[in-house]
Amino acid sequence: MRSYDFIIVGLGTAGSATCMSLARRGYKVLGLDQFSPPHTRGSHHGLSRSVRRAYPEGSSYVVMAQKSWELWRRLEKDSGQNLLIKTGNLTLGPPDCPALSGFLRSAQKHEILHEYLSALEVEKRWPQFSLPDYFYAGLENEAGIVFPERAITAFLNEARQAAADLHVNEGVEQWTELAAGVEVRTSRASYQGGRLLLAAGAWSKNLSGRLSAVLTPKRIAVHWIEPAAEEPFSLGQFPVNFWQVPVFSDPVFPEGFKEFYSLPMLQPGGQIKVAFHNGLSDGDPDSGSHTIRDDETTMIHEMITAYLPGLAGCPMQVNACFYTMTPDKDFYLGRLPESQHVFGAALAGHGFKFAPLLGELLADLLLDLPSPVDIAMFSPERFAKL
Ligand SMILES: Cc1cc2nc3c(=O)[nH]c(=O)nc-3n(C[C@H](O)[C@H](O)[C@H](O)COP(=O)(O)OP(=O)(O)OC[C@H]3O[C@@H](n4cnc5c(N)ncnc54)[C@H](O)[C@@H]3O)c2cc1C
Repeated sequence: MRSYDFIIVGLGTAGSATCMSLARRGYKVLGLDQFSPPHTRGSHHGLSRSVRRAYPEGSSYVVMAQKSWELWRRLEKDSGQNLLIKTGNLTLGPPDCPALSGFLRSAQKHEILHEYLSALEVEKRWPQFSLPDYFYAGLENEAGIVFPERAITAFLNEARQAAADLHVNEGVEQWTELAAGVEVRTSRASYQGGRLLLAAGAWSKNLSGRLSAVLTPKRIAVHWIEPAAEEPFSLGQFPVNFWQVPVFSDPVFPEGFKEFYSLPMLQPGGQIKVAFHNGLSDGDPDSGSHTIRDDETTMIHEMITAYLPGLAGCPMQVNACFYTMTPDKDFYLGRLPESQHVFGAALAGHGFKFAPLLGELLADLLLDLPSPVDIAMFSPERFAKL
């Protein structure tokens, strides 16, 4: 049986970056994936992911976003690929909504360059948007998008160059923790490793009963719209935009607001991506969850008609993507409860922007090294009582 220092299950976002980090540090690494990443079955497809630094969800994220930006630029140099592009990022909603008030708090506290704009100012700068008079927007100019498929290919290429063994189309069926390590059985063979990282995204619950209690796959209906007039929605003209729109007594949105976002077209003849970020259905990446319901498309139509009217009536395609949600919407990074050698990673629907740093942080965790960033808030121990 072949033996490794580390076995990584899942070569998507978290897994590919961790393989790169560990292999570059000189460890013997085996990475396994049931498919051949990048692929369109999990959480990392769809051409673009937003990258921003003002992060209402907590200070750790801001520090991580700042470090990640540098690491994306470094990966671009190492791989010779263009991975990150500046577009600006708008957070829009009523001034007291959590996203916008949190944006301002985070930007001020961490001295992130930003502007605060009235509805009128937004519409003057970007006539593509239509805002109720009482809406405001926070603009972060030094924000943008990363290209996820290219990024994962870069992580995997770098890991291979650093001598990682990466096996694709080889699903993990079972793992067993031993006194001094782990044993992993796949569809093809068995392997031994010192430590194991489960970075299986939306399939996490299949791999450990203990994870299934806190990690829920959510299905996102991603709508791709072909604008009639391309220029206003193209790169350089159209910032990434995230909206928090108040709703009253809607059981689908118990938080009291709808959250949706859109990202620019990446090339002529391309499409705008629009999706909801909350009110999501539970999903299963192996089942019919890939089918999008008519009511989901109707809700997107309503949002477009109200807030992006230039897109109303334009041809639209849909596909599914998955978040792996934790109960508090923060990441899950660390050792599985009651385990010595088995670790898990789940990114709660907003992890791509941090991928190169997450690779470093997870490698540190697997090596029992102190973390350069305070990641206590992501510890699985916070769910011990659930
Ligand atoms: C529509 C959408 C938009 C998003 N937008 C943003 C954004 O703008 N900004 C941002 O930062 N984040 C965003 N995210 C979130 C981000 O993309 C995810 O947090 C991230 O990709 C999750 O990475 P992962 O490694 O957990 O999962 P994946 O990248 O899906 O990787 C998991 C891998 O595990 C493999 N696997 C599973 N089970 C097994 C097994 N038994 N054996 C072997 N392999 C297995 C899978 O095949 C897969 O390749 C978005 C997500 C979606 C769906």
